[in-house]
Amino acid sequence: MTVGGAIGADIHGKNHHVSGSFSRHVLSLDLLTADGRVRTVAPGTPLFDATAGGMGLTGVVLTATLRLQPVETSLMSVDTERADDLDDLMARLSADDHRYRYSVAWIDLLARGAATGRAVLTRGDHAPLDALPGGTRARREPLAFRTSRLPAAPSFVPEGLLNRTTVGLFNALWYRRAPRARTGQLQRIPTFFHPLDGVPHWNRVYGRSGFVQYQFVVGHGREDVLRRIVRRISERRCPSFLAVLKRFGEADPGWLSFPVPGWTLALDVPASLPGLGALLDGLDEEVAAAGGRVYLAKDSRLRPELLAAMYPRLDDFRALRAELDPRGVFTSDLARRLRL
Ligand SMILES: Cc1cc2nc3c(=O)[nH]c(=O)nc-3n(C[C@H](O)[C@H](O)[C@H](O)COP(=O)(O)OP(=O)(O)OC[C@H]3O[C@@H](n4cnc5c(N)ncnc54)[C@H](O)[C@@H]3O)c2cc1C
Repeated sequence: MTVGGAIGADIHGKNHHVSGSFSRHVLSLDLLTADGRVRTVAPGTPLFDATAGGMGLTGVVLTATLRLQPVETSLMSVDTERADDLDDLMARLSADDHRYRYSVAWIDLLARGAATGRAVLTRGDHAPLDALPGGTRARREPLAFRTSRLPAAPSFVPEGLLNRTTVGLFNALWYRRAPRARTGQLQRIPTFFHPLDGVPHWNRVYGRSGFVQYQFVVGHGREDVLRRIVRRISERRCPSFLAVLKRFGEADPGWLSFPVPGWTLALDVPASLPGLGALLDGLDEEVAAAGGRVYLAKDSRLRPELLAAMYPRLDDFRALRAELDPRGVFTSDLARRLRL
């Protein structure tokens, strides 16, 4: 993961509802454009807004100046709660997400019936120094930080291991292991931000054919669409490891930036799932009809005719590209398929 890639996809984190996307924290960038020039690009200009989320198609970001968030410690203070179903989850997120800098929910998409959309909600902020117990090593070295080492695991997990039963058991275990409600737990940064890193090589469980990640957003007021999609996925019995639901804040200025105020769901589905293409095409249509969109950073299959409905500034982006790079020096499979 690089700064250039973070600007190219205008990525968002668990703090989008208060801090916006990555490009909101970029003060300036140097861009190598197709004519060989290096341009210094400032926020609030058309070239900046086309580059933030522009999937590398306006040029190569060579350097960027970022505004960072000072922290007093390298620990997080985390509140955890369980939500019984999707409506319970949305109610909790709507009620008090604003009190937390970071917020995310891990949904069990294999739960059905009354438990459809049950989730573990984790929210928190950087722990202040006085939250660390006195006399401890953490207090003496509050900014000490170690990256996690991935646990050793076999290099290939047989595809047969992935089925509804095993994934369902994993998800159920994750849900039950979480406390019904706990506040102020101190967690290391990787534990809070990258919990799946604690599951050895979880991605290999999908076998040689791998998985497709699907992420969409629908606006506030379209909770009906979110409910329907969650129900469709859980009824379809997709063996999907924990999916992630988040509530986005204000939209970002990037013309192809993904976030809009509303609900975003990200899930992994095995690429070998029979009927997957038709299932996701159907979801795309439902999302587009509701004024929502899919995340281009994670897309490898969206049909081009749905793009304009999802991204209303698409024509501006195409016009700027045509002027900036008339010979199409910068391109990609995504750009060719979606005619970006
Ligand atoms: C496990 C996992 C979890 C993720 N979680 C999140 C998440 O929570 N939120 C989120 O928003 N995204 C998430 N992503 C998506 C990821 O953040 C984006 O795909 C990001 O763009 C990857 O950055 P990269 O440096 O690896 O870029 P690459 O994958 O190399 O490129 C991504 C895009 O950026 C462009 N690009 C790369 N470098 C430059 C450059 N120097 N100048 C201009 N354009 C450039 C490329 O052309 C391409 O279009 C996740 C991805 C994975 C695999």
